[in-house]
Amino acid sequence: MNRRYRKTIIAGNWKMNKTAGETKKFAEELKAVMPKTKWCDVVVCVPAVNIPAAIKAFKDMRVSVGAQNVFYEKSGAYTGEVSADMLKDLGVKYVIIGHSERRQMFGETDFTVNKKVLAALDAGLHPIICVGESLEQRELGITMELIALQVKSALAGVPAEKLRKCVIAYEPIWAIGTGKTATAEQAAEVCTFIRTTVRHLYGARIARSITIQYGGSMKPGNAFELLGQNDIDGGLIGGASLNAGDFMDIINAANQD
Ligand code: PEP
Repeated sequence: MNRRYRKTIIAGNWKMNKTAGETKKFAEELKAVMPKTKWCDVVVCVPAVNIPAAIKAFKDMRVSVGAQNVFYEKSGAYTGEVSADMLKDLGVKYVIIGHSERRQMFGETDFTVNKKVLAALDAGLHPIICVGESLEQRELGITMELIALQVKSALAGVPAEKLRKCVIAYEPIWAIGTGKTATAEQAAEVCTFIRTTVRHLYGARIARSITIQYGGSMKPGNAFELLGQNDIDGGLIGGASLNAGDFMDIINAANQD
């Protein structure tokens, strides 16, 4: 982290977990342990149907609500989809775009990720753009080429003034939901590379101010070390964000000096 130049953001990705009632219970549990003052921003990305319940539950808590996906068209015959304006209208602040589960299971490509990023920014949302390599790609030694491609395609057409609203999450696919965490060195190496890629595209000042998260089996036991790396400005947390105590421990790890 480098709080002098950029925000630290801890974001939970609940995936397809928790009902509206469970959302309320989680918020109460988190409120009971959350100190009033904090240095990092906290976001909880809930299933789309539970957004209204989450907005209500986290209202007095300085916890922002995020969505896990968005469609890029404004309106029309797109059965089952949700637009960026609809999310914004509900009070959503962040939206995860291009999560590897969506790329692998729901046919998302770098092209659709880019369209979603542009639509989210257009509506005034903060996209959390996920990039990351598979184990095969890491073993082939093409991680950095792949990450550069994913970052450049996701940001195509994004003007500099809007880049400030974007968060990039480095999520190695082999570390998501597997219990395998990238070492702090592996995570930091790629996060630094992402910042360098952004610097080549937008210049040093903007690259210095963009929040880059790490995601992949982050938990209370490894958060402190991961978040202690200069270029890791927060976490995107799946499994460990489902338990209020574990999530709070990670938030506390982000509040380190
Ligand atoms: C994720 O889904 O973005 C994620 C990082 O999951 P987990 O923390 O469970 O690996």
